[in-house]
Amino acid sequence: VSVSVTTALRQAYESVDAAFASHLVNIGMKPSCSVGCSACCEQLALVTWPEAMLVAEAMLARGFFDTEIAAIAAQAEACFYEGIDPGSYWDRRVRCALLTDENRCSVYEARPAACRYHVAFTPAAMCSSRAPGRNTQHVDTGPVIEATLGPIMEELAAAGAEQAHEFGPLPVMLIAALRDELGVPVPRIPSPREWMNRHGRQVYEYVKADLAEARAAGREP
Ligand code: SF4
Repeated sequence: VSVSVTTALRQAYESVDAAFASHLVNIGMKPSCSVGCSACCEQLALVTWPEAMLVAEAMLARGFFDTEIAAIAAQAEACFYEGIDPGSYWDRRVRCALLTDENRCSVYEARPAACRYHVAFTPAAMCSSRAPGRNTQHVDTGPVIEATLGPIMEELAAAGAEQAHEFGPLPVMLIAALRDELGVPVPRIPSPREWMNRHGRQVYEYVKADLAEARAAGREP
């Protein structure tokens, strides 16, 4: 299953990346993101199983050290606190364990949709959680993530794959993908299912409310 899932996801990224780029041109919006700006890599990146699998495969292909696995596991454990949601996580300023010392994504080609389609139009310096008077303008990523992953997740659900109903923070999902699907020895941490049971509902409600607020305020490009 894993091979076909990640192949399907690669293909979906290819076509959605192109459609997304032309959409931005059509609406006259120019992203301010550039190489090395990585403030958004402190966000709570929520991912599905196919996305975690693709990142895990990219890590296997490029190679990694035990210290990197330990950093990802520590970041995963840090996602199990009472009251976690994208807002409180952002306030904690947790840097993604996949970011290099040069502020580059070490799995860039395989980065998940939450990162891939997170595009800002306001000056990059405004994106930092430390920026005074922070008020950034972003793409509403919901529809583009849905377009990318919707058909793949529906196919998985129709095939009865239980992972079709799982989502969670990237490090939590990644540790599970490395351990359960690819057999990499990783530290024991609670499963994505446990994360969902404990925190899934409140994160879902936060994302829904945030989206409704952005739409009501006309903050969509
Ligand atoms: S996966 Fe890559 S782009 Fe996404 S938060 Fe981590 S370093 Fe940043």
